[in-house]
Amino acid sequence: MDAADVEKDLVNILFTEEQIQDKLRELAGKIEADYEGRELLIVGVLRGAVMVMADLARSLRRHVEMDWMAVSSYGSGTKSSGVVRILKDLDTDITGRHVVVVDEIIDTGLTLSWLISNLASRNPASLEICTLLRKPEAQQMEVGVKYVGWDIPNEFVVGYGLDYQERYRNLRDIGTLAPHVYS
Ligand code: IMP
Ligand code: MG
Repeated sequence: MDAADVEKDLVNILFTEEQIQDKLRELAGKIEADYEGRELLIVGVLRGAVMVMADLARSLRRHVEMDWMAVSSYGSGTKSSGVVRILKDLDTDITGRHVVVVDEIIDTGLTLSWLISNLASRNPASLEICTLLRKPEAQQMEVGVKYVGWDIPNEFVVGYGLDYQERYRNLRDIGTLAPHVYS
């Protein structure tokens, strides 16, 4: 789906498909340099990170293993509470492995903080985070985020895996959702 198909639902287009691909190539380049000579496992957080994982992995000009986790955070629906439940765990034993967790957006960072401490307890050789987008609150996160695509304002965005009530994930670009859609 293109932005033109849901034009009336968007206030603006924050990032086009092309800008997103450029950014992922840039992040992939950094990851290639940092993990040269080491085996790498990237872990996608379902469901939002599907598009980022697919395109980041294909931008990497080296071998990479891919695995997935699904977590649910209990909350009011618009804000996560930090109380997290694993819906789908990794199939891979990450003991001694170099792991990069890939996410599409970090808002409060509560979900990811929990996930990172859970994964850290499995004794990986290294553990880093890559996110396409980050909102202001996340900068207060205790866990550092090594790879960030863009820092964005505190607005609700959709597209490229990001949903509002399970819609807009298949939008090619990322845009700000118009208030009339959720009010
Ligand atoms: P948090 O970092 O624990 O607050 O939660 C991050 C999760 O909230 C993301 O993985 C998204 O699923 C969701 N989320 C946060 N901000 C947005 C947004 O602007 N659009 C769509 N989903 C969002
Ligand atoms: Mg998510």
